[in-house]
Amino acid sequence: LSTTETIEPQRICVCVRKRPFNKQEINKKEIDVVSVPGKGALLVHEPKHKVDLTKYLDNQVFHFDYSFDDTATNELVYKFTAKPLVQSIFEGGMATCFAYGQTGSGKTHTMGGDFTGKQQNSAKGIYALAAQDVFAYLHHRRYANLDLSAYVSFFEIYNGKVYDLLHKKAKLRVLEDERQQVQVVGLEEVYVTSAEEVIKMIQIGSSCRTSGQTSANANSSRSHAILQIVLRRNDRATTLHGKFSLVDLAGNEHGTDASSNDRSTLVETAKINRSLLALKECIRSLGKNSDHIPFRMSTLTKVLRDSFIGEKSRTCMIAMVSPGMTSCKYTMNTLRYADRVKEL
Ligand code: ADP
Ligand code: MG
Repeated sequence: LSTTETIEPQRICVCVRKRPFNKQEINKKEIDVVSVPGKGALLVHEPKHKVDLTKYLDNQVFHFDYSFDDTATNELVYKFTAKPLVQSIFEGGMATCFAYGQTGSGKTHTMGGDFTGKQQNSAKGIYALAAQDVFAYLHHRRYANLDLSAYVSFFEIYNGKVYDLLHKKAKLRVLEDERQQVQVVGLEEVYVTSAEEVIKMIQIGSSCRTSGQTSANANSSRSHAILQIVLRRNDRATTLHGKFSLVDLAGNEHGTDASSNDRSTLVETAKINRSLLALKECIRSLGKNSDHIPFRMSTLTKVLRDSFIGEKSRTCMIAMVSPGMTSCKYTMNTLRYADRVKEL
């Protein structure tokens, strides 16, 4: 994949990204079971046993719009996934970009980047790269006459409830009016004038997201984080022009074992599974131009309702996979889900 060609946004784009091994995995001599031959293909070499206990590899092939191997940078992934969607919100569209996958597969690295705060040049994620382009376009003469301003909100959905990450995790209500318009009441929408300001918001929100967590309850793997970049006209009503929702989804591994005895954990797990199922169905209805969008199935799809309707809606899903053999089961789940999103 080269970074020079321009990409026309598709209605639904589904991609896959394989992350590199980390030091621990290398030390444990984990076996790499994922290969990326290019042109959107991805192979999983799943080790299996025959009846006579001889080992063999069951090679499974998947095809997506793009497949990124473990050498791909966030910039390259961005270029083929979210970048075309930035343009579509300037054209008055509603765009969404999702990072989907098992915990530890690279969702937050891809979306939020690695803002450890220690290094100035930590890898920028899709949030920051999209913000940079939004301001580049705002100042571009092609869009200058639209007279637009940018606003940012950042919130989390945990256990079906919405929390404002730019407002000390204030709990917010989701309301739907008689015209099916969905509103998150009181969600902070910050007026921003530069990518640096957005990056600051991302840092504030991200640290808010992870603070006060214990291993026993709410950790970020169990919540969806949604950054919205909103374009509004500079008229008296600040009319909505376009909106880009960038979503770092909850880990999809929950409930595959259903091992918990704890009732509240089971309820949480059921909520996550239901929202990921609802998301798949809503994207599929967008692909089919269907009138019936099952957005009421979950809080996640309720707050994103507007993104699943209309001629100008565009969506991109990036399925993240870990390379190791011990993740094989989760990797296969992720790939099957991503495959279904695209299938009409
Ligand atoms: P998730 O959000 O899906 O749980 P993370 O994004 O937190 O996963 O990734 C887990 C670890 O792997 C982090 O330490 C992250 O920095 C690292 N990582 C993930 N993807 C990459 C990548 N493409 N290149 C380098 N490191 C990565
Ligand atoms: Mg994460």
